Amino acid sequence: MSRIAYVNGRYLPLSGAKVAIEDRGFQFADGVYEVCEVRGGRLVDERRHVARLDRSLNEIRIARPMSAAALSIVLRETVRRNRVRDGIVYLQITRGVARRDFSFPQANTPPSVVVTARSNDLARLERMAEEGIAVITLPDIRWQRVDIKSVALLPNVLAKQTARDRGAREAWLVDAQGRVTEGASSNAWIVSRDGTLITHPLGRDILPGVTRSVVIDVIKAQGLVFEERGFSVEEAYAAREAFVTSASQIVLPVVSIDGRPVGNGAPGLIATALRRDYHAHAELT
Ligand code: PMP
Repeated sequence: MSRIAYVNGRYLPLSGAKVAIEDRGFQFADGVYEVCEVRGGRLVDERRHVARLDRSLNEIRIARPMSAAALSIVLRETVRRNRVRDGIVYLQITRGVARRDFSFPQANTPPSVVVTARSNDLARLERMAEEGIAVITLPDIRWQRVDIKSVALLPNVLAKQTARDRGAREAWLVDAQGRVTEGASSNAWIVSRDGTLITHPLGRDILPGVTRSVVIDVIKAQGLVFEERGFSVEEAYAAREAFVTSASQIVLPVVSIDGRPVGNGAPGLIATALRRDYHAHAELT
């Protein structure tokens, strides 16, 4: 079965789905995106993803091209046409197609909207979670507005590839003060020796992860000790547990950082429990 993409109002086979070469997403990475998990054919945390999309669009001054209701239908229809039960749905909105000038095109230029969906191998993801992943640390060389979910991801791409080249699955990005901001495509967490869960506070230097926000709700509901603050690489080395969160991976235990085992080198109990309980707290629609 050919995969299907939604492109500006039409559902097309992926092989024939095209955007113009003067699309500002292609020319300038002038656009934003969202990735939403699909579980059992339902969308996970759709409302929070759409709220973040609205915020990203607003920050870069693109008007939302369709209502939340219409967008929801397109997301679901793309999932349905691709027969995705467990996987992800991807949405990208750019400032549209116009002659290549840096300044914004005419106000009547319609944004481009692309939606794709694909299945995940749940058994493989589960095996990865049972084993835990390795991360490495790298300098955070990104721009100063990474709270916007922009498609300009070159530093993230390079960091991820460096991680892969060194046998790790994720790169933790470290700011000028030596603190871990987040992963190349995930939020970063540790559990200190005294059992405190720690993650970087919201602001312009991390993406406000939807999975992060749901995990915080779970932590609070369970009365776990939680601190929103930057943690250093040294603190991460000394942590009892570490994990990452993202819509496509949910909660994924980290078992080594820069080649040093975290805790006893096996997935931690808190990370494993958060992963197990996540979907009971998330909104599935
Ligand atoms: N930080 C970055 C840089 C990311 O790319 C992602 C995933 N897109 C996240 C954090 C996690 O966000 P979410 O939980 O909303 O997927």
